[in-house]
Amino acid sequence: MSMKTPTKVSMEKIVSLSQRRGFIFPNSEIYGGLSACWDYGPLGVELKQNVKQAWWQDAVQKRDDVVGLDTAILMHSQVWAASGHLEGFSDPLVECKSCNLRWRVDELEGDSCSSCGGELTDPRLFNLMFKTSMGPVEDEASTVYLRPETAQGIFVNFQNIVNTTRKRLPFGVAQIGKAFRNEITTGNFIFRSREFEQMEMEYFVKPGTDKEWFDYWLKERLNWYLNLGIKKENLRLRRHAKEKLAHYARACSDIDYLFPMGWSELEGIANRGDFDLAQHAKFSGQSLTYFDEEVKEHFIPYIIEPSAGVDRSVLAFLCDAYDEEAAKDEIRVVLRLHPALAPIKVAILPLSRREPLVKVARELYADLRQRWMASYDDAQSIGRRYRRQDEIGTPFCVTVDFESLEDKQVTIRERDSMKQIRVPTSELKNIVQAKLEGEDLFVLPQNGKT
Ligand code: ATP
Repeated sequence: MSMKTPTKVSMEKIVSLSQRRGFIFPNSEIYGGLSACWDYGPLGVELKQNVKQAWWQDAVQKRDDVVGLDTAILMHSQVWAASGHLEGFSDPLVECKSCNLRWRVDELEGDSCSSCGGELTDPRLFNLMFKTSMGPVEDEASTVYLRPETAQGIFVNFQNIVNTTRKRLPFGVAQIGKAFRNEITTGNFIFRSREFEQMEMEYFVKPGTDKEWFDYWLKERLNWYLNLGIKKENLRLRRHAKEKLAHYARACSDIDYLFPMGWSELEGIANRGDFDLAQHAKFSGQSLTYFDEEVKEHFIPYIIEPSAGVDRSVLAFLCDAYDEEAAKDEIRVVLRLHPALAPIKVAILPLSRREPLVKVARELYADLRQRWMASYDDAQSIGRRYRRQDEIGTPFCVTVDFESLEDKQVTIRERDSMKQIRVPTSELKNIVQAKLEGEDLFVLPQNGKT
């Protein structure tokens, strides 16, 4: 599909489209909303699932060195002692309102952010983790936390994976799931929320090979966004300076996206060394080493972690796809989403509501929706209906007209170019499939017309 020049879209437009068309709603809206929590509507849930599916396909399905996992949100409290989350988050903190770096009050030199000079929030004794209690007695022993990241579920299952899959190094374990953080500064729509989803992979490697795998994953992850249509000029890699690294990291780079509010982190890729497995071995008393049969040695593998946000990816894909163009005497809003991400793949639009046409159109709709998310629209003019589909990113519209009754052909109209072809109804499914997979619109079957 043709790609136009980038539109610098405002967040207001994305929020407005999301609410108007049912991508994303404020959580508990009828009660005035719940701060930094969002609900995905009928189109949003499809987009989000497609993003997760695209990640899973690349991270797990298409590889033979990565397996999947789905661990519980609630975990033993010792997990958070070992990971550093319990201790690391219980100091009085201030947060920079512009770059979001958090500072311990006792380590600050002035009254502004030591990194960017931005204004700071008031200090708070702060633990980012949401606490709840498990079992009938609400005492210390029953305190559990909602996980602030999915990664720990992978680390604590390391031996289970090695024992059950017989994977040899290097190999990865991938997980998609909810995470919760009682963020101090929120805002920017779904960019930073208190309940969100992560797509994380822990890639276990032999110490000494970690640098090359770190570079490998940086490239892989950048290409994932590019292959799904994000414009190159809206992505950048940002390497963290050594002195700014988190306590567990040997190296870290962020993939930033040029969001409407400016360059911000979309995904972090870290070389975590042996920190996590060593910590969990220490706190659990279990051996978390790996036995290398070639050299007959036990050691703790190093970990490379690409950690992406589902919601941030959804926001980036929405912003990147949003386009406005002058069409006749109005503005055409079009979401140029990659077909793999588009919530609805194909819409059926009968040119009239008259019986013979509706019957054919309804039958086609029933057939197409066995394979894809499809939609049926017979309200208002055909132009209006195309606009509605353009605005939600539907790659193809199929119109059924009176001629269709005679020649058993229908028209396929492509979203980005608005070009049309006419094809036999009997071939429609295969043709739509081929076009969704990237075949040029004008590659036609026998009897097809432009
Ligand atoms: P930030 O500083 O921007 O809040 P972070 O550096 O704390 O992010 P990580 O701990 O590296 O984030 O988490 C990995 C990924 O998870 C992030 O790149 C982001 O995509 C996603 N993520 C983290 N926190 C949130 C949040 N509060 N809301 C939405 N996504 C988040």
